[in-house]
Amino acid sequence: MDYISTRGSAPALDFEQVTLAGLASDGGLYVPREWPRWSAADFESLRGLSYVETAVRVMTPFVGDALTQDELRSLCSTAYGGFAHDAITPLVQLDGAHWLLELFHGPTLAFKDVALQMLGGLFETFLARSGKALTIVGATSGDTGSAAIQSLAGRERIEIFMLHPHDRITDVQRRQMTTIHAPNVHNIAIEGSFDDAQAMVKRIFGDEDMRAKFSISAVNSINWARLMAQIVYYVWAAIQLGAPSRRVAFSVPTGNFGDAFAGYAAAQMGLPIERIIVATNNNDIMHRAFSQGDYSKGAVEATGAPSMDIQIASNFERLLFDMEGRDGAKTNARMADFDQSGRMTIPREMLDKVALFSSCRADADDMSSAMRWAHEQCDEVIDPHTAAGLHAARVADLPEDTAVVTLATAHPAKFRETVERATGVRPALPLRVGHLFEREERLDILPADYDVVKAYITERAVPSA
Ligand SMILES: *Cc1c(COP(=O)(O)O)cnc(C)c1O
Repeated sequence: MDYISTRGSAPALDFEQVTLAGLASDGGLYVPREWPRWSAADFESLRGLSYVETAVRVMTPFVGDALTQDELRSLCSTAYGGFAHDAITPLVQLDGAHWLLELFHGPTLAFKDVALQMLGGLFETFLARSGKALTIVGATSGDTGSAAIQSLAGRERIEIFMLHPHDRITDVQRRQMTTIHAPNVHNIAIEGSFDDAQAMVKRIFGDEDMRAKFSISAVNSINWARLMAQIVYYVWAAIQLGAPSRRVAFSVPTGNFGDAFAGYAAAQMGLPIERIIVATNNNDIMHRAFSQGDYSKGAVEATGAPSMDIQIASNFERLLFDMEGRDGAKTNARMADFDQSGRMTIPREMLDKVALFSSCRADADDMSSAMRWAHEQCDEVIDPHTAAGLHAARVADLPEDTAVVTLATAHPAKFRETVERATGVRPALPLRVGHLFEREERLDILPADYDVVKAYITERAVPSA
């Protein structure tokens, strides 16, 4: 399998190269040259398989020759061996129509572990072949940073620099990063906002000086391998609920549109998905895009579901590429225009091509009521991100008898203040993260000054050759 850029001019890469590259050199995102197509019998043959075995089967066409079956199986077993639930991503029934797919049983209590646990092993395997070193630089407002650090700590040939806004993330989120003590982990608290941190990371990626010295890569969901790992649980859940003979709908708490795009990829493979409901909070760029064709940046508003507080959804470019008939030049023109103006209008004929999607915005009241409903009617305590998804699932207009799976993207204990306010229940942190408040924290506090941050990284990163 090879991968092409959504902007049409970067070279095609194989799976190994695309994993290490992250962003394409023309500024685009990599997508498979064509979607693998499975028959009903192919899906049927997954029935009864474990999560790990399902993962191996679903990932194989995307990985191509980059890994042997044994290598892939061993990476999947290691990645998911650390999950705290035997089913890895268990399905929980709420009522006759609604299900939760719990994606938060990994080490940092959010769904990002499902992809990042896998990505760490892929990096290490590919780097060992070439003997090269990788410098990972990222900015986090919470979940991505901790999942990336948890996965990459102690790995050979990788240094990770994670920037977060000083004093502006929760204690649990910060401690999940700063209590992991490995020589290749560098936590940087920036005296500024998340946007300051993010702007600095962007500058590092574009800095010729840094690019000449280091091989710099990313762990956010522009990385194709992350999305590939997320396709697995759509397939796994649908099979449990009777696919391919039954159609299943999914409701996806959405920020950067990575998770929802993975669902689209599963549908492109032939999985009979009735609908993918894109649930946003008040930061509703994706809801406006699907409902009105208005993909325009707004100001970011802080909500009770902070991991969805995003006003540009990077992965939407991958869907636009398909909506433009997989024409890189057209997608490039569209994105160039958006980068300049911050606005994009999507004509009805283009939206009609992706009628698989619907969308819904959940405000603070909607999220609270969904948390209360789950608690009072179904005896399940859910987090605010999951609540946005469940709200959208409950108001969606779907054919009767459709099973709707809401992706439960975070453990409720990760956002316990908001959960307690809505339900009166204060969810306890699972035992496996109970040590968080006893361990010493390691981080360096730096001013929001590019030269200082650049010097810090230069001193500690490993040159690429
Ligand atoms: C990252 C995140 C999301 C949003 O996922 P995207 O792939 O960016 O759309 C939703 N919920 C939680 C808890 C997250 O950490």
